[in-house]
Amino acid sequence: MMRDVIALSVVALVGANLGAAAEARQLGGIGKGLSIAKKANEVRDLSMTDAEEQELGKNVSERIRERYGVVQDAAVHRYVSLVGLALAQGSTRPGLPWTFVVLDTDGVNAFAAPGGYVHITRGALALIKNEAELAGVLGHEIVHVTEKHTIRAIQKSKVVQMGAAETLSGSSSLMERAVTATYDNIVERGFGRAEENESDEHGVALANKIGYAPNGIVGFLTTLKDRNKASTEKRGLFASHPEMQERLDRIGRQIASKKLAATATLQPRFAKSISYQPVALTAIATVEAGSAGLAGGDEKAAPGKHATAQAEEKPAEKKRGFGLGRMLPTSGGEKKQAQVTASGGARGVDPEKDSKGGRNPAIVAVKVAAADIAAFKKEGGLS
Ligand SMILES: [Zn+2]
Repeated sequence: MMRDVIALSVVALVGANLGAAAEARQLGGIGKGLSIAKKANEVRDLSMTDAEEQELGKNVSERIRERYGVVQDAAVHRYVSLVGLALAQGSTRPGLPWTFVVLDTDGVNAFAAPGGYVHITRGALALIKNEAELAGVLGHEIVHVTEKHTIRAIQKSKVVQMGAAETLSGSSSLMERAVTATYDNIVERGFGRAEENESDEHGVALANKIGYAPNGIVGFLTTLKDRNKASTEKRGLFASHPEMQERLDRIGRQIASKKLAATATLQPRFAKSISYQPVALTAIATVEAGSAGLAGGDEKAAPGKHATAQAEEKPAEKKRGFGLGRMLPTSGGEKKQAQVTASGGARGVDPEKDSKGGRNPAIVAVKVAAADIAAFKKEGGLS
């Protein structure tokens, strides 16, 4: 609907300009003509319809899958999809074509792309202990999608702007810029603290609503915290960041004050479906940050373009975390920490993010009917 309004106003602007330009020519008003030309080149923030959001997400997912590869295991995908779809049904955007993808890498991460694409790594599944923890992670990612966090971040950063007559679906170069900016936001920088907190809060409520013990995400983040505590790698996720403890405390307070009391953890069902073993941070094979392989090895994401997008960005936008684990401060009084992070290896290698991926980017399609989700919930005592 937003797009309809914008499209109309663009037409009106063009019409007015044509009329004014003709008038300017008649009057020989050069100065006026110049100002009109400038107006015709006006840019506006990236806007998109739901269909364009899905197209963008599809392209971004493709890039993420090219980067990390996809576990070619239908049973694993079916299980993760059932948990994800049960949650998505209870979300604020149940009608999106939700797609759940298991990435073929030891690095521990999860990425939500616009339009309903949720990715979780094999490494993350290996650390997760039960279905409630999986629901906690997927619920968190689902909220990034339903609240359009990525799209808002790109709009706010103004890295991608549209010409007056451009539409996302009508301009391949604009789409490509949007895909690169979105990929960078999701994989390289991640969301700010406000978005992470919002995803934590709504994700916990969503998991609880379906019947999962609401502290699933707490369990997973605590495991992740311990994992990084043992690491000597400066770039290690967040073990030393007090923000992590604050985050866990905040979720704990939410569960207590809202009296979130669902109890299903479904450890046996999880163990029956997922049998990956975690790989220690120090043992994860990595690819060099910024190498061609990082963005799937295609020329579309060549370092040059990447650098241009970064350079146009406002400095404040760089204080970002990524995925589930990293959550750096985004506002005042925390500059010192951002600098430490930068010198500690912003250009270095992060084993979780820069982990080597598999070679097959093909989506593993699983057919899940509404009746399958209902049966899955019933079997688990979910609501
Ligand atoms: Zn997140």
